[in-house]
Amino acid sequence: ATAPSTADIDPTKLTIEKTTSPKSLKKPEDLIFGRNFTDHMLTIEWDATTGWKTPEIKPYQNLSLDPATCVFHYAFECFEGMKAYRDKSSNIRLFRPDRNMSRFNKSAARIALPTFSPAALTELIATFTKLESRFIPDARGYSLYLRPTLIGTQRTLGVGPPGSALLYVIASPVGPYYPTGFKAVSLEATDYAVRAWPGGVGDKKLGANYAPCIVPQREAMSRGFQQNLWLFGEEEYVTEVGTMNFFVAIKNKETGQKELITAPLDGTILEGVTRDSVLALARERLEPEGWKISERKYTMKELDEAAEEGRFIEAFGAGTAAVVSPVRAVSWKGKLVNCGLKDNEESGEITLKMKSWMEARQYGDEEHEWSYVC
Ligand code: PMP
Repeated sequence: ATAPSTADIDPTKLTIEKTTSPKSLKKPEDLIFGRNFTDHMLTIEWDATTGWKTPEIKPYQNLSLDPATCVFHYAFECFEGMKAYRDKSSNIRLFRPDRNMSRFNKSAARIALPTFSPAALTELIATFTKLESRFIPDARGYSLYLRPTLIGTQRTLGVGPPGSALLYVIASPVGPYYPTGFKAVSLEATDYAVRAWPGGVGDKKLGANYAPCIVPQREAMSRGFQQNLWLFGEEEYVTEVGTMNFFVAIKNKETGQKELITAPLDGTILEGVTRDSVLALARERLEPEGWKISERKYTMKELDEAAEEGRFIEAFGAGTAAVVSPVRAVSWKGKLVNCGLKDNEESGEITLKMKSWMEARQYGDEEHEWSYVC
């Protein structure tokens, strides 16, 4: 017998219960990342026999879960991070939501949580976002950070696939990551702890990937470095930063050709939406200028050599929160590898260009298929 087919997410069934106590808006300059939330939340329950149930938008509220719920014991949790932007005509736009939905499904499938139609959830997120649009300040750099989350809710200590789950989306208004202009960060190349490994789940956005990174991050911060740069293996391959993919621009030793490099998607790296967008923009706009754009393995030794020989052009992290984040130096084996910035510079040229190219598509200044009008 074939398994009974269960229901997919159905946006036409959405019910909306509006809050009777709307929150007052914070002053834009007082927004702290991830601290303030909007009036409502989107929730969709699932169980193994019926599938996805009625999507609901309701007042933002606590969840009530039995202490035996499997998410608390075996980390059945995955999430996404994406943003909604207000354009100059006051339309609300999502940025490449298809990418987040496909990554969300891959994360869910890996930990035996249910998958769903990407288009259906995108449509519901768009409706939810429009409902909360008063929280998005009308200024460049501001956006609504969206946090789709999926948890296993079965009440059992038995280790097995959850028979029930809850998908919810909450939203937090956020300001520019660098309110007073770029500030270059410094990283600590981490070799004593490993974030991800071949055959592991480093390419999935599981909550369980994040908690173990906090102690190394605290260690790095205690030595004056903002984030870890995760290395892998005896070769000390460079993988990614705390919550960003990592890009370096170096000049080729023999030919002098400029090369923009990021680590390949080999299963140990999160498939960043920003990473993919930066690569696409680089292939479109830097390649014609003679740049080589590479997704390849590279090592700390290669970067150190480039720095020593004056061939290190610049480096930046790429992720939804900061878009791009310039990097001044990497501490490696007690040595500071300078990533090409002069003392009085906070960003390289390519980093600045990427920021403005990305923002043009996020805020809809440049009409592009990456932008989804809600
Ligand atoms: N790597 C990790 C480990 C992350 O948590 C994130 C943030 N999602 C990224 C990279 C960047 O991904 P994105 O561009 O999709 O935000």
